[in-house]
Amino acid sequence: LPEEFIKAQPIIDTIEAAGYEAYYVGGSVRDTLLGLPIHDVDIATSAYPEEVKSLFKRTVDTGIEHGTVMILDHGTGYETTTFRTESGYQDYRRPDSVKFVRSLKEDLNRRDFTINALALKTDGTIIDYFDGLSDLKAHRIRAVGDPEKRFNEDALRMMRAVRFASQLNFTIDPETITGIKHHGSLLTKIAVERIHVEFVKMLLGQWPAMGLDVFMDTGLYQYCPDFKPYKDQLEQLRLQLKSGLSSETAVWTILCAVFGLSSKQVNRLLKDWKSANQLIDDVQVAVKAVKAISEHSVDAWLLYQTGSELLPIANEVANQLGESPYATATLLAQYDELQIHSKKALAITGQDLMSAGIKPGPQLGQALNYLERQVVEGQLKNQNNMLLSAAIKYLNEKA
Ligand code: ATP
Ligand code: MG
Repeated sequence: LPEEFIKAQPIIDTIEAAGYEAYYVGGSVRDTLLGLPIHDVDIATSAYPEEVKSLFKRTVDTGIEHGTVMILDHGTGYETTTFRTESGYQDYRRPDSVKFVRSLKEDLNRRDFTINALALKTDGTIIDYFDGLSDLKAHRIRAVGDPEKRFNEDALRMMRAVRFASQLNFTIDPETITGIKHHGSLLTKIAVERIHVEFVKMLLGQWPAMGLDVFMDTGLYQYCPDFKPYKDQLEQLRLQLKSGLSSETAVWTILCAVFGLSSKQVNRLLKDWKSANQLIDDVQVAVKAVKAISEHSVDAWLLYQTGSELLPIANEVANQLGESPYATATLLAQYDELQIHSKKALAITGQDLMSAGIKPGPQLGQALNYLERQVVEGQLKNQNNMLLSAAIKYLNEKA
């Protein structure tokens, strides 16, 4: 067993010593069987949350109403969830009630896909009630039970299916695909933030075309914010993407670039996808840079405006689209050679200009902007006296 499981063994031992069952479950079991690194170790137990809490000194109620308690042990947190069933799902997303149960089988039965419904004991035994192991071997994503029912209960599972396909290079079982075709429209009932998370994970996966194929063929894309008019562009993207993207910024940048969006449209799309303001700002800048890179028209001002964090992302996106003639290292070297990398680095301040007799007001700001651009473009040296005379000359010519 991987060392993460060995490290967590005392937790399971403690729960078992108190007379309850406890197993490793979820993504860590799946990924271990696939020989992949694991992120976090999740535990499922027959003990009720209060019983779990009584067994450990340090716990946090991370989701106690649905049975989850985090156990803290030597700096690691273990999400420990009581076996439960779910019922209701009147809103297609959250169960109306969760019921704690004492049976592992019932708990695994409520899980989304067979490969996610395996349990592992500390002695290495696998518990596999739904043929998850043969699906793992066949590289197949299959809903636990009747896909129609499972997607009707929780529509987010359809996005999870395509994201696992991209992350694992798995195909989706035909009946599960049919379930997605029938229930795609239920995605509109799901909080956009949750769709966002799964969609980004899909494009960050190593095999994005695996998920995108199903995302397009089943029509799922139509029920995501603002995607419906961009069918052709999304189809084109699935053919172009050679590998996963490196960051969330790259994901949205490539989408906005292939959709051909203006800054204002980028803002609209990303707002509709409930994105953070920082992400929106970054994507607007990166999309402009992708355009310049693709048109082979990168100049000093564009390098400066894009900055060293977004330049590699913009070039990665342009490369994925087969349109970059530049090496990222070259762009970064050119960026490094700029005289300044921010307005603060100008060898003159507004205060300096006022001391020289220039009145405060809009034209003072304009003069500083002019100097900034001239220095970035290498037309002026970044020296206080030279900048001062250039500012005076600029203002005189304007007047
Ligand atoms: P990752 O490696 O991305 O964390 P994961 O499989 O661990 O993948 P999580 O979202 O962490 O995914 O969920 C943990 C487990 O909980 C899943 O493996 C699955 O068994 C179950 N699960 C999560 N979301 C759902 C859902 N919407 N419906 C049913 N079961 C779910
Ligand atoms: Mg997980």
